Amino acid sequence: MRRKLIAGNWKMNKSYNESQILAEEISKNIEPTITENTDVLICPPFISLGVISEIIKDSGIKLGAQNVYSENDGAYTGEISAEMLKSVGCEYVIIGHSERRKFFYETDEDVNAKVKKALDNGLKVIVCVGETLEEREKGDFEKAVTAQVTGSLEKISKESMRDVVIAYEPVWAIGTGLNATPEQASEIHGMIGNTVSKLYDSDTAENLRILYGGSVNAKNAKEMLSACGVDGALIGGASLKPDDFISIANEASKIK
Ligand code: PEP
Repeated sequence: MRRKLIAGNWKMNKSYNESQILAEEISKNIEPTITENTDVLICPPFISLGVISEIIKDSGIKLGAQNVYSENDGAYTGEISAEMLKSVGCEYVIIGHSERRKFFYETDEDVNAKVKKALDNGLKVIVCVGETLEEREKGDFEKAVTAQVTGSLEKISKESMRDVVIAYEPVWAIGTGLNATPEQASEIHGMIGNTVSKLYDSDTAENLRILYGGSVNAKNAKEMLSACGVDGALIGGASLKPDDFISIANEASKIK
């Protein structure tokens, strides 16, 4: 069975001090039995990565960033490179979140360039895909998600796919309190698996972890995480509440 991954995306929340308190709360209270069989990841804002790396270092919790740039270094004011993220202890980076696509106009090409650069620098990537409400209502969602998966993975080698996680996050379910049904998630996760199987092979698809994201909370986690083909969750709002985040990770760790 694929190891479950529970990833918290803190987005643009928590000051330098507040983020340390949140990281301490999570790392102090998470049971080692959870992190033994489940990957638990937190993705704080850039400014807090270094200090949080120290806070979580003996807790079994992993560290990730919410974005990365597609160049190594140079005159790219305001951007952060994969090497910089590695140097502060990041193991993962989220790429192509729908908020990046919507507010910062990131295209599949941009996402693909970032994925390549992150993988080349030894980071694991969580590539976000998901349809808008309009695409869902028009019945275009399979086409939209397949195009995002294909575009984001262009020229990524089969070997590198070991370090790729895909997060299916229907845009209409993010931060809205609406979530996909377990059946809807399973359907799309299966379709993503088929797409990856066609692009690579069945082994690659079999080993690929596909997370669900969109209003996952302590109440619905068990149902969503038990759905066929769901290998974990990418969590926004509930990842800012330590008890809820730990409870979601605990549910994941109990699923056989
Ligand atoms: C997200 O931002 O990736 C997300 C899933 O947010 P929320 O859990 O708040 O819907």
